[in-house]
Amino acid sequence: MNDKKYAQLIIKEALAIQKRENAIIWIKANTENLPFARELARMAYEEGAVEVKVTINDEELSRLNMEFMSEERLEHFGKYNLDEAMDYIEDGVSYISITGGNPDLFKGIDSKRITLRQKASGAVMKPSQKYTMNDINSWTVIGYPTKAWAKIVFPKLSEEEAFEKLKEAIFKTVRLDHEDPVKAWEEHLDTLNKRGEVMNDMNLTSLRYKSDKGTDLTIGLPEGHIWVGAESKDAKGYRFLPNLPTEEIFSAPDARKVDGIVYATKPLNLSGNLVEDFWIKFEGGRAVEVGAAKNEELLRDLIARDENACRLGEVALVSVNSPINSSGLIFYNTLFDENASCHLALGAAYPTCVKGGESMSEEELASLGINDSQIHVDFMIGDESLSIVGIDKDGSEHQIFKDGDFVF
Ligand code: ZN
Ligand code: ZN
Repeated sequence: MNDKKYAQLIIKEALAIQKRENAIIWIKANTENLPFARELARMAYEEGAVEVKVTINDEELSRLNMEFMSEERLEHFGKYNLDEAMDYIEDGVSYISITGGNPDLFKGIDSKRITLRQKASGAVMKPSQKYTMNDINSWTVIGYPTKAWAKIVFPKLSEEEAFEKLKEAIFKTVRLDHEDPVKAWEEHLDTLNKRGEVMNDMNLTSLRYKSDKGTDLTIGLPEGHIWVGAESKDAKGYRFLPNLPTEEIFSAPDARKVDGIVYATKPLNLSGNLVEDFWIKFEGGRAVEVGAAKNEELLRDLIARDENACRLGEVALVSVNSPINSSGLIFYNTLFDENASCHLALGAAYPTCVKGGESMSEEELASLGINDSQIHVDFMIGDESLSIVGIDKDGSEHQIFKDGDFVF
């Protein structure tokens, strides 16, 4: 297991750049990941990319901005950011986003300042959001360790040891420990596709969740919804894997038909702060009450971000027996934790989760209950006690999950 093999998996399997014509790649990385970003860039060029653009974010500088910038400037997010993104999007750019920053980056900073900034950037960048949400352009989110992140996952180890240990854990989640990782991925994708087919054939109208923690939630599913696996196709017909690792099949809920209470089973990292032990109560699709042992305020701000931030936009099924969950680690990073557990997302739904959704107008999507919002935030609700029952058009019940795992 080494960086080169990992880069190969991303470039040749997740984006399959060797099969693309005139590929333009935009890598979003962290200062600490610079050597790995270079490895990716080199390989992308070797596989035929015509341009690789890299944006480097420095967390210490981001923290300074969040601490010291005037409120007025926090609220001002330059429109050039959108212009630049649209310029590349129109040229068919494919994104590689490397996650793995310090989960505690903004610890102690007034959540109002963070929200102010996110609202400003969300509003400016909104027109570019649909190109990834609708899979018009290819995109993939992958993880790479940073020392600060590694120290949080392995607090007892030295920085260097923690870093190496986290890297090893990440490599295992993406099956780099298999002799032939690409083959392992193709087999895994097959399993996910089959599960998606079973769900699609049942054509359910709702799902009922129950768990020992107290979750008792019913989620309506829209007419024509589709369960999607790990693979996506962009507007040019190129296959890509939006997430590495990925263990989920997911669909869009009917954002008007969610009722009951759901308990989170893992902490949620919201812009550098952890919301812990929380629950959300829904009525008629809206989150009407929330509670959390830590950082409840942030959760409240999140669901008030815009009109539909309080509604659900994703329902995802993940076995508790996934390699990520089996590792026993909490990664404090959504990409990894969401693939360890059944999850839901507050905010925007993927229009690709209903038949013909890519070409529907906003009104058509809304009429099916497909949610739209500035935010899309996953939170984890699966554990060993989770049961999910699906209800079809005739009112017949089908067991989907028992003891945290698929029954098929
Ligand atoms: Zn998901
Ligand atoms: Zn999601």
